[in-house]
Amino acid sequence: MTTFTEMSAMGHEQVVFCRNDEVGLRAIIAIHDTTLGPALGGLRLYDYANEANALTDALRLSRGMTYKAAVAGLDLGGGKAVIMGDPSIKSEALFRSFGRYVESLNGRYITAEDMNTTVEDMNAISRETEWVMGGGVYQGGLGDPSPVTAWGVFQGVRACLEVVYGSPDVAGRTIAIQGVGNVGYHLARYAHERGAKLLFTDISERKLKRCVEEFGGSVVEDDDYYGTECDVLAPCAIGGILNKRTIPKIRAPIIAGGANNQLDSEDRDGEMIAEAGLVYAPDYVINAGGLIHVYAELKGFPEEKAMSDASLIFDTVKRVINKAKAQGITTTEASNQVAEERMEQVARLRRLHLPSMSS
Ligand code: NAD
Repeated sequence: MTTFTEMSAMGHEQVVFCRNDEVGLRAIIAIHDTTLGPALGGLRLYDYANEANALTDALRLSRGMTYKAAVAGLDLGGGKAVIMGDPSIKSEALFRSFGRYVESLNGRYITAEDMNTTVEDMNAISRETEWVMGGGVYQGGLGDPSPVTAWGVFQGVRACLEVVYGSPDVAGRTIAIQGVGNVGYHLARYAHERGAKLLFTDISERKLKRCVEEFGGSVVEDDDYYGTECDVLAPCAIGGILNKRTIPKIRAPIIAGGANNQLDSEDRDGEMIAEAGLVYAPDYVINAGGLIHVYAELKGFPEEKAMSDASLIFDTVKRVINKAKAQGITTTEASNQVAEERMEQVARLRRLHLPSMSS
């Protein structure tokens, strides 16, 4: 498949290949769709086996960002960038060189942190371009997005509880969190403060200990996690964990957590979950708080505004679940439709305001 064929199959507007041998830069910037606003999406540093894999990743991730921004109601399009290589290639020169490519796009693409890139890397990029978010607090950024992400996830959990039990109240409900890192920890905190019972699993004994000490609750072994008797499974660690091996074990009526790419296969596993009668909050809908946080930084909004915008995830998750039920489709299909409807509406609205050729 040629790059143009791949781009048109997935609906991309623009792909930029960036090379600077002197600093070891081989990067791809994928701009999926700018209907709603500039294409925003993180910069991933990864040692791809080959160029084709890097391109496919950039195309897939940038399209995901378009949908995430659209469902969250943000005036942002979808983009993503990848640099080929392992973290040993990092240098100020590498990121500044990448920053010059970002600058050349004049705001069509805005970059931020992603896998293997840090606040320091964003600060290096910011020496060459203003189109970079996720800088440290001392650089005028809002800092760690995870408390806002977790707040959005918490709202999504409440929405699912309301659909299943008729009340969003977490008091007395049991929530099993997989991965108590940045997002999982804050989710546990919000839920604990409102009276939820908590179960935790993680590969880090230290993080588990901290949660049990602060919030009570108990630890479940990873193998037992999926079959745990509880109200909500909240995956907040890694992707691909909802698959044909794990889904049949699930006894919780709700799956609502912050991890990205939870479904191993979007169609097959989404349908398997729906057929089992489980309520699944699509990951990119429920974890949009991170993007909302970056958007607030872009707009110069305070952290409180990001938190209140992330609260709207409650309504969005409910809308998506109800749409899926009404149409007999999966919640992911429903959220994709919500995103596409919004892009169509905005595109139509803009067409109405085009100057008429005859006047
Ligand atoms: P993190 O690295 O701080 O936390 C992940 C936790 O999962 C760690 O405690 C780790 O020990 C644990 N873990 C790793 N593998 C595991 C396994 N196999 N079983 C159980 N636990 C395991 O990361 P984070 O920032 O909290 O992000 C968690 C997830 O949420 C990721 O999928 C991330 O892409 C997604 N996400 C995060 C944000 C954000 O604002 N941080 C925003 C959107 C999405």
